Amino acid sequence: MLVVMRAHATEEQVRAVCKKIEDLGYRAHAMPGSERTAIGITGNQGEVEAGTLEEMPGVQELIRVSKPYKLVSRDVKQENTVIRFPGTSATFGGQGLAVVAGPCAIESREQALIVAEQVCRAGAQFFRGGAYKPRTSPYSFQGLGEEGLQIMAEIRETFGMKIVTEAIDNESLALVEEYADVIQIGARNMQNFSLLKRAGRSKKPVLLKRGMSATLEEFLMAAEYVMSEGNYNVILCERGVRTFADHTRNTLDLSVVPAVQRLSHLPIVVDPSHGTGKRNKVTPLSRAAIAVGADGLMVEVHHQPDRALSDGMQSLYPEQFDELMTQVRQIAGVLGRTVPAIGARVAAAPGTATRSEIASPAAH
Ligand code: PEP
Ligand code: MN
Repeated sequence: MLVVMRAHATEEQVRAVCKKIEDLGYRAHAMPGSERTAIGITGNQGEVEAGTLEEMPGVQELIRVSKPYKLVSRDVKQENTVIRFPGTSATFGGQGLAVVAGPCAIESREQALIVAEQVCRAGAQFFRGGAYKPRTSPYSFQGLGEEGLQIMAEIRETFGMKIVTEAIDNESLALVEEYADVIQIGARNMQNFSLLKRAGRSKKPVLLKRGMSATLEEFLMAAEYVMSEGNYNVILCERGVRTFADHTRNTLDLSVVPAVQRLSHLPIVVDPSHGTGKRNKVTPLSRAAIAVGADGLMVEVHHQPDRALSDGMQSLYPEQFDELMTQVRQIAGVLGRTVPAIGARVAAAPGTATRSEIASPAAH
């Protein structure tokens, strides 16, 4: 059920309706829009007793939401959700595209800083890197854990990029939310409902990757789990699904982008690295992702992909990422969207660490 407030309803009236909903034993989710506020009601098993709510001051109408996902739905909020980050112009869902780039995993301080400088220079506003890696084999590199998070915090300080990193369980989520700007929930955890609920109680935005075999509805329901706990800053990420095609690691389902945008107000970005698993396909699919209307990209970049501890095959060389950004910028322009130019911090601060300085931290 959805309570639509009148255009000029006061904050007090919105608060009173929320209180009434909570008194009835449900949960109220006020979603302010540019024209009016809508209040989603969750926690009800059957029909909500509408009578008392309908009569309250400031209420325009009550609408039944027929879809299984509610807070995620455009029925609840018509305009796109824009996720902002204090101190930067970077957004997810705004007119500017979000570019998240970095290695699959944080392997060392030196590796992370070298890649960070490169992707920042190319225009990425978000730095990615796994400190906790969900690996198919228990014998593969599992990530540096908290040390990896500390390295990323240093990268935020040095380059001004915001940090996106994955939490694989409730324990790592507690640390990730302390250090990171965006909490990534990986494909393998898209239906880890206790983790989704825990992420929903966090104050940090959540980047939710589509499960390898998830339908659109399952994907949106996973986002609903996060939102139902009160965290409305969810970014969806298409990263490919399993099909019979074996020329790529996964099949990047770009048609999900307009499909999501029709049903949901949440931003959606595309990860062509995991989506294809092959370096030579990352740039073409990045172009396609922006052309289809994605709100941004997540791309794996490594300065020595052949030495990477994970996902080297799909990691771009920094020079390839530069080229990707140049191409994507042109496509974005056609759609009236923008991609940031040279990373502000790198360009503005002549004293910023250079590659050689990073390579020999002991010299400082
Ligand atoms: C990743 O982003 O490094 C990752 C593990 O992605 P996914 O969950 O999509 O496999
Ligand atoms: Mn990876």
